[in-house]
Amino acid sequence: MHKIDEKLANVTARLERAAEQAGRPRTEIMLIAVSKTQSAERLRQAYQWGQRRFGENYLQEALDKQQALADLSDIEWHFIGPIQSNKTRAIAEHFSWVHSVDRLKIARRLSDARPPELEPLNVCIQVNIDSEPSKAGVSPEQLPELAAAIAALPQLNLRGLMAIPAPGKNHHDQQASFTQLTNLIQSLRQTGVSSPLDTLSMGMSADLEAAIAAGATMVRIGTDIFGPRAAQSTQV
Ligand SMILES: *Cc1c(COP(=O)(O)O)cnc(C)c1O
Repeated sequence: MHKIDEKLANVTARLERAAEQAGRPRTEIMLIAVSKTQSAERLRQAYQWGQRRFGENYLQEALDKQQALADLSDIEWHFIGPIQSNKTRAIAEHFSWVHSVDRLKIARRLSDARPPELEPLNVCIQVNIDSEPSKAGVSPEQLPELAAAIAALPQLNLRGLMAIPAPGKNHHDQQASFTQLTNLIQSLRQTGVSSPLDTLSMGMSADLEAAIAAGATMVRIGTDIFGPRAAQSTQV
């Protein structure tokens, strides 16, 4: 079971089952293959089995892979890791999506650096849904103000919200966390923010079913597609 084709097929089947159980169309849910620490060759294999959306956490590692896979021009690259100020230019230039925006300063820098000939950068705001002290993400209380400010930035397209719940929960508690994010996006829509707000990026290998039950439109799956990650990369 280390073959990417089998693993990808399994994940796709889980996605389909979860969508069906939630009474949701499968086409509403996009699969992001989280490829941090995986070699360009592994990504190429997933591509050959039909995967087009890839999520990366570490900028330099991602840029190297983008170069190695430059012949696969229809890959859609998603940046999902913590963002340092000095990395915003390269991220704005080399990705279609950023899921992990949680500060206005970073959002402004991404908007300023987004090349004008490209479509506005799609962004999600990361929310610290379980109020974990050391976790990235804006608090639910500060979300409306941040969302309004980001929606006004010209070269960003505020697509929605992203969250990583606290680990170690059962299905029921996972779903309760994810439902909080669903409720937050619904309240944001009611504030009249002029952005699509059509995206809930939530759900990883261990909790994709709960995320889909709660309304996820993008799930970010690493381990269950590529197998366990060897050593965690220390690059940023
Ligand atoms: C690594 C990572 C994932 C994938 O996690 P798995 O448990 O391997 O599926 C998803 N989202 C983010 C933000 C990650 O850093």
